[in-house]
Amino acid sequence: MYIPEKITVLGKEITIEIKPFTENDRKAGHDLDGFFDPCLNKICINGNLGRNDIKETLFHELFHAVFYHNGLRQTNISSDLEEIIVNQFSIFVCDNFEIAIKRTKK
Ligand SMILES: [Zn+2]
Repeated sequence: MYIPEKITVLGKEITIEIKPFTENDRKAGHDLDGFFDPCLNKICINGNLGRNDIKETLFHELFHAVFYHNGLRQTNISSDLEEIIVNQFSIFVCDNFEIAIKRTKK
């Protein structure tokens, strides 16, 4: 799966970075697979993961970006509930679709 450096989520450009996570990433409070930073509009994915886990983590973090940019996160939805929903969507997409990335214009 080709993963672009930038992707558009609800009109917002999100930067995607895949790199091996370090001990400092963990100390910064990021979990081991990936995270979405809404201040930087950036998704970071642990490059130490296998291909399928990278894909599933990418969709997981993209759904977090959707939650943020469509305003659901600002409705005081619990973070546990958000995690369950983005996990289920990510698994659903990965289990049922082969995704072709539409390249965005630079
Ligand atoms: Zn999450």
